[in-house]
Amino acid sequence: MRAKHPVILIIIDGLAAETARDCMGYMQALCDSGQATRYALDCALPSLSRPLYETLLTGATPIESGVTHNRVVRLSNQSSVFSLASTAGLKTAAAAYHWFSELYNRAPYMAERDRFTDDPELPIQHGCFYHQDHYPDEHLMLDADWLLRRHQPDFMLVHPMNVDDAGHRAGYDSSHYRNTARRMDGLLSHHLPQWLAAGYQVLVTADHGMNNDRSHGGTLAEERQVPLWVAGDAFAQASAAQPQQTEICGLVCELLGVEGHAKAVPAGMLRVTA
Ligand SMILES: [Zn+2]
Repeated sequence: MRAKHPVILIIIDGLAAETARDCMGYMQALCDSGQATRYALDCALPSLSRPLYETLLTGATPIESGVTHNRVVRLSNQSSVFSLASTAGLKTAAAAYHWFSELYNRAPYMAERDRFTDDPELPIQHGCFYHQDHYPDEHLMLDADWLLRRHQPDFMLVHPMNVDDAGHRAGYDSSHYRNTARRMDGLLSHHLPQWLAAGYQVLVTADHGMNNDRSHGGTLAEERQVPLWVAGDAFAQASAAQPQQTEICGLVCELLGVEGHAKAVPAGMLRVTA
């Protein structure tokens, strides 16, 4: 089976909504041209990475999933985009931090075994995982592009870490943090035109934002508000939808055409087709 619409989900770790709006001119140009729409949403709490990876991929809040902090090293006990898609016979891939391998494939992560993954029996069938926060975004995007060219996945997760890393080093209100977001925008301007032309529906979002204390976890607007851009012809662009972070999983399942997923889906985001 092939997906109804193949999907690429890009999670830019630690990218706050205002920084995204102010620094990412290519993404704004896509919106201005009518090819993408930007939404802002509040992340679930606590505003931490591993709990929100689980929220984005399963629709469950950290309280519901039990992944309430970053040191919960175990497989997810929820159904995820990866498990639902592979069970439906779709091809899955990820270029992502090793915590995704731990949540959906095998825990704990063993770099020698898991860094490069090719196993049709695993929920993430094809993976390039990394385990250092300064692993260059540029290389990560090329890892994703290689997975795409080699495997033509129905669903691919792309997860760069340098924006979050810059925030931990220099803080939210810093040129380092903003310039790292600008560099990410430049990388997107290189890859997105090709990925969209290949027929993918693309979602670009973040797990959480960043604060001026060089951390995140709480409820401040800058650590909680994150962007969501959607691009591709399956989306109803410029819609007045108000998607929640917990609905991104269901939205991806709908795009893929996975049946019986029982995940919450945001209203008004998809183009109605006859
Ligand atoms: Zn972080």
